[in-house]
Amino acid sequence: MLIPKTHPRAASLHIREKLVKGYRSGLVIEEGLIAHGRGEAFDYLIGEKTSKNALESIKAAAKMLLLAKSPVISVNGNLASLCSKEIVKLAKVVNGKIEVNLFYASEKRKKTIASFLKKNGAKQVLGIDPRFSRKIPRLDSARRIVDKRGIFYADVVLVPLEDGDRTIALKKFRKKVISFDLNPLSRTAQAADITIVDNVVRGMRVLIEMSIKLKKKKLATVKFDNKKNLSQALVEMNNNLRRIAYA
Ligand code: ATP
Ligand code: MG
Repeated sequence: MLIPKTHPRAASLHIREKLVKGYRSGLVIEEGLIAHGRGEAFDYLIGEKTSKNALESIKAAAKMLLLAKSPVISVNGNLASLCSKEIVKLAKVVNGKIEVNLFYASEKRKKTIASFLKKNGAKQVLGIDPRFSRKIPRLDSARRIVDKRGIFYADVVLVPLEDGDRTIALKKFRKKVISFDLNPLSRTAQAADITIVDNVVRGMRVLIEMSIKLKKKKLATVKFDNKKNLSQALVEMNNNLRRIAYA
C-alpha cells in the first residue's frame, strides 16, 4: 500500500505495513497483529512520541544492560519484524546475547525468526538448538523453555512486548527484567524492574543511542522506581486526555 507522506499517522501505518510483511513471511502470527493493536491504542494516549518519563526509564535500562554480566534480548515475532537491525545493534553495544523466545511456540517460526535476524547481521541466535533447552520453573509446558546459554543463565533480560505470566515467572527466577510496553497497566509493565512505556520502534533507537553514550562513562548501580515511573506515565496520559477534552 502506498502511504502518503502527509498522512497524519504515516509513521504508524508504516509500522503496520512492516508487521503485515512479517506476518506474510512467517515471523508474526495473527495474535501478534492483535497485540500490536492494543499497544497502538496506548501510543495514541501518550501522543505517539517518546516522553520525558520514557527517557528516564530508557536511561536506567541502558545502565542496567551495560552493568549486567550476561544480558539477553528476548525476541518474539513482532519484535523481529519491527526492530531486527536494532536488536543486533543493541546486542553489540551492551555485549548481550539474542534469544528467540515465543509465547506461541513453533519450531518452524523460531527458525524463520533466527534466520531473519542473521540476515540482518546477528552472529549468534540462541533458543533454537534443543540440546541447550532448559526449563524455567512455575510456567506451563512450551512457554517455559529457554536456552541454557541465554535466558537461563542471564542476570538481566530485555523482554519487549512480553506476556505477563512469563515476566512474573522470570522475576520469580530472580532475573532483572526490562520491558518495552506501551500499556502501563499490563502485568508485564507492573512486574518488570524497568518498564519503558514507549513504542518499541521509537524506544529501541533511543536505547541504543543512550547505551553508546553511557558506555563511555563510569557507571554506578541503577536507582529506579518503576512504580513511580508507571504512575507518571498514567498521569501523563490523563493530562493528554484532559487537554484534548477541554480544548
Ligand atoms: P499482560 O500479559 O502483561 O498482562 P496483555 O495480556 O494485556 O499484557 P500481551 O498481548 O500479553 O498483553 O502483551 C503484549 C503487550 O505489548 C501489550 O501490553 C501491548 O500494549 C504491548 N505492545 C504491543 N505492541 C507494542 C509496541 N509496538 N511497542 C510497545 N509495546 C507494544
Ligand atoms: Mg498477556
